[in-house]
Amino acid sequence: MASRYYSRRDFLRSVGLGAGALAVLGRFSGLQAQAVQAAANKPNIIIIFADDLGYCDLGCFGHPTIRTPNLDRMAAEGMKLTQFYVAASVCTPSRAALLTGRLPIRSGMCSDSRRVLFPNSGGGLQDSEITIAEALKAKGYATCCVGKWHLGHLPQFLPTRHGFDEYFGIPYSNDMKPTPLMENETVIEEPADQTTLTKRYTDRAVRFIERNKNNPFFLYFPHTFPHVPLFASQKYKGTSLRGLFGDVVEELDWSVGEVMSALRKHGLGEKTFVFFTSDNGPWLIQHLRGGSAGLLREGKGSTWEGGMREPCIAWRPGVVPAGTINPGLSSTLDLLPTCLSLAGGELPRDRILDGIDMSSMLRGKGESQREMMFFYRGTRLMAVRKGPWKMHLITQPGYGDGPTKHDPPLLFHLEHDPSEQYDVTKDHPNVIADIMAEIEKHRATVKPVPSQLDIPLRAGAK
Ligand code: MG
Repeated sequence: MASRYYSRRDFLRSVGLGAGALAVLGRFSGLQAQAVQAAANKPNIIIIFADDLGYCDLGCFGHPTIRTPNLDRMAAEGMKLTQFYVAASVCTPSRAALLTGRLPIRSGMCSDSRRVLFPNSGGGLQDSEITIAEALKAKGYATCCVGKWHLGHLPQFLPTRHGFDEYFGIPYSNDMKPTPLMENETVIEEPADQTTLTKRYTDRAVRFIERNKNNPFFLYFPHTFPHVPLFASQKYKGTSLRGLFGDVVEELDWSVGEVMSALRKHGLGEKTFVFFTSDNGPWLIQHLRGGSAGLLREGKGSTWEGGMREPCIAWRPGVVPAGTINPGLSSTLDLLPTCLSLAGGELPRDRILDGIDMSSMLRGKGESQREMMFFYRGTRLMAVRKGPWKMHLITQPGYGDGPTKHDPPLLFHLEHDPSEQYDVTKDHPNVIADIMAEIEKHRATVKPVPSQLDIPLRAGAK
């Protein structure tokens, strides 16, 4: 794991912001103009993030009846990552990890009593965290978040306070009331008409790309769907062989196609990295309304592979080798260091980062540098992956039954047994001992902070 130490102050100075500017990060002008100039040759970055889409819900990841021609094309022109993980198998901690490059236990964005933030939560992503948007904005990028935020709905936690110039979307999950649609920090519709959300998000995203075609931009595009309740537009409703879930995913695929068309139309393809993945595995207790993790065990909410491993595609013509399938270990945690590497920025050093720069792997010029993954549920370490091995200390279904502790732990060889069916603990005592030692080292780096998810909404706040 990369552990770099560099203060927030040093970090902001390194990107051209002096002490006087620290207090007004996000509102600076002259210094930002210099950074914009320096950023002229930097690649654009787009992260498209589906919600509760399983490992096997795309055509290019093996679904037999959901049609995803645009994502299939993106995979054919780019790289499919087949051992790509999120840092938590539910929305809030997974999103916090993506944007900060840190395990949620380090940012307080997880809890053992509430798994995600709710409309009656008073907490959110802390200002002390550095997001990808904040880091790229400081390098002169225009930044935009379109879609589901779920890192705090109070004004101080919104995307506009975390490095995004603009925001359009729903601040939490679409099954939470009152489901406001927000433009920056203002509610413009409540409840949001969810049948038109994917279309409206896409229009916003395309307009942002067009407005910024002459300067580097970062678009974080976390879709509301296919999280339940499912809504498709009139155009897609009733059109998929896979029923409403398929309609919704096929409309998301259309949306990806619109983003890619906008890039091609403006000659931005070779200047733009696009990543597509999902925040967690399929919501299996929703039965037909939920997705599929295919051969992976379990789904959303669990630390079995079905909850944690997601479909992932990386694309940049001429840079990411076309038609490649890469089984290197990689994670949403790696996006912050990777984006900073692509943008020529330095990593913050005053905190522990859990991400690793995967830019050389994406260029097809090296193996993944990631060897370990730590799988948490709330603040509890449940399982650890090292190389091909995954060791479970505790297992628990995503929903329903309580935890089962394993002593000795369970051990699976994921490259031989991706479905985690055959426990081989007895045959590999050295692997168990080695991973146990890694856990001791890891635990020494973890200083739990108060959970933001446990903070109730104060009376009168909203
Ligand atoms: Mg989710």
